[in-house]
Amino acid sequence: MVDVVVVGAGPVGLMCARELSRLGVRPVVLEALPAPSLVPKANGIVGRAVPMLHARGLYAALSGRRGGPRPAPRYMYGGFPLDLRRLPDNPVYVLPVPQRRLEAELARSAGVSVLWGHTVTGVSPSEAGVTVSVSGPSGAYTLDCAYLVGCDGAHSFVRKAAGIGFPGVAQDGVVSRSAHVVLPPGSLTRFGGRLRGPGGPYRPYLFHRTPRGVFSFARFGGGPHLVTTLEWDAAVDDTVPMEVGELRSSLARVLGVPVGFDAPPTSGGPYVLRRSTSRQNRVASRYAAGRVLLAGDAAHVVAGIGGPLLNLGLLDAVDLAGRIARGDVSGYDAARRPHADRVLASSAEQAALLAPGPAVDAARARFLAYLHTPDGLRRVASTIAGG
Ligand SMILES: Cc1cc2nc3c(=O)[nH]c(=O)nc-3n(C[C@H](O)[C@H](O)[C@H](O)COP(=O)(O)OP(=O)(O)OC[C@H]3O[C@@H](n4cnc5c(N)ncnc54)[C@H](O)[C@@H]3O)c2cc1C
Repeated sequence: MVDVVVVGAGPVGLMCARELSRLGVRPVVLEALPAPSLVPKANGIVGRAVPMLHARGLYAALSGRRGGPRPAPRYMYGGFPLDLRRLPDNPVYVLPVPQRRLEAELARSAGVSVLWGHTVTGVSPSEAGVTVSVSGPSGAYTLDCAYLVGCDGAHSFVRKAAGIGFPGVAQDGVVSRSAHVVLPPGSLTRFGGRLRGPGGPYRPYLFHRTPRGVFSFARFGGGPHLVTTLEWDAAVDDTVPMEVGELRSSLARVLGVPVGFDAPPTSGGPYVLRRSTSRQNRVASRYAAGRVLLAGDAAHVVAGIGGPLLNLGLLDAVDLAGRIARGDVSGYDAARRPHADRVLASSAEQAALLAPGPAVDAARARFLAYLHTPDGLRRVASTIAGG
């Protein structure tokens, strides 16, 4: 019998295991993949998880900087740049770190042991604990534990096996495209690296709304630029594989002029090349079914804008680990589910503010006036910081 089985060695499962071990509980992490994933995902953490990581001695290694994190002077919301220096108690922290590096750092922690290539195939809860069926490299076996924590992502097997619903909506009709690309030098201004185009030049790291859609571009860690577009009511054949040329056409439509970028050389990859035609917004109907608990994307998937998901998931993980260590998880659902609901609401608000059309222009004018009130900026900053 082990204390806790954590399913999934993504950032949330690893954070949960690290925290459990720090608090004197023995976790075992089961991960279906044979080795750490190389798929590029998040480029950073935004919110209260950053000081949380600092408090656990992880900030310096992740940021490569000495000293503690400082509040971010600027951020964005719904396509509006925010000057957070106006706030006396700015709660927004940003830690640019690739998800792969975060995972590697967490996996290195004392007390975190990951069994790679071990897929959870069955969950049988009882009063005293949970029996987990596993398919491993040497065959099938079972494992008894006091608590089972499902950190197994959006399609969570644990959530389904525990009979926990996943209500919400899929917003269809908004096509999002992202790819790493090499922007031609002439397309950027010499100072500030702004993208030239009608109505520009446009600053990196922000969402820019035009009458035809939204685009952003940013460069993380000195690699190629990551370009993203959003287009509303666009017809797409999802059976056709995404290509860089498709993003080029999309950016030309949204920006109003073509930008002749190319795919980066494959040697430095893997790189992002994604199209999504359905924006899922779902929160688990409960975070706990007896001794089976959920955290991270297993508990919530949100078409997040501004990078709220790692913050939400990492804070789920430390909250849950603390409760397991104290032997009372009864308050976990009530403590954490409202945070996911808030992220869902703020992402829906931002998506509504970014949509094209004259009705949205009017709503944006009102929202901008709100941002200029003393309370407006503080509230938006608190939403971004999450909890
Ligand atoms: C392109 C992209 C960019 C993103 N950018 C950002 C960003 O900038 N900021 C941000 O905050 N978020 C971002 N996100 C979201 C972020 O990556 C996710 O929220 C994060 O990965 C969630 O972590 P997790 O540990 O909950 O789940 P996951 O990372 O999905 O990990 C789940 C793990 O469980 C394993 N697993 C699944 N089923 C089983 C099973 N039956 N048995 C054993 N193991 C199993 C999987 O193999 C996987 O390794 C981005 C996502 C994508 C796709």
